[in-house]
Amino acid sequence: MRLKYICENCGKVAFYDDPEEAFKAGWDYPPKMYSFGMISPRTCGNCEITTTLWWAMTTRDIKSIADMTPQQKETFDRIMGEPQSIMVTDDED
Ligand SMILES: [Zn+2]
Repeated sequence: MRLKYICENCGKVAFYDDPEEAFKAGWDYPPKMYSFGMISPRTCGNCEITTTLWWAMTTRDIKSIADMTPQQKETFDRIMGEPQSIMVTDDED
């Protein structure tokens, strides 16, 4: 399954067929790390978890969807829609 990895912090995008390969490239991303559809970090190798939606929710900076920035809301929707939301279709890639 080919997946589109999107760093929620810097917006970096990468495509991988093999989750192991993505993990080696520094991505904290399901299915290698964490689980699809669960709020957890979605970051590339350059970004820290402290910039993630997961962190903001864990530290209670965000208590509901109403507290999210547009970028965080986008991340939230994408995570909730996984894995379909990051599956690569023919017209993409
Ligand atoms: Zn990043």
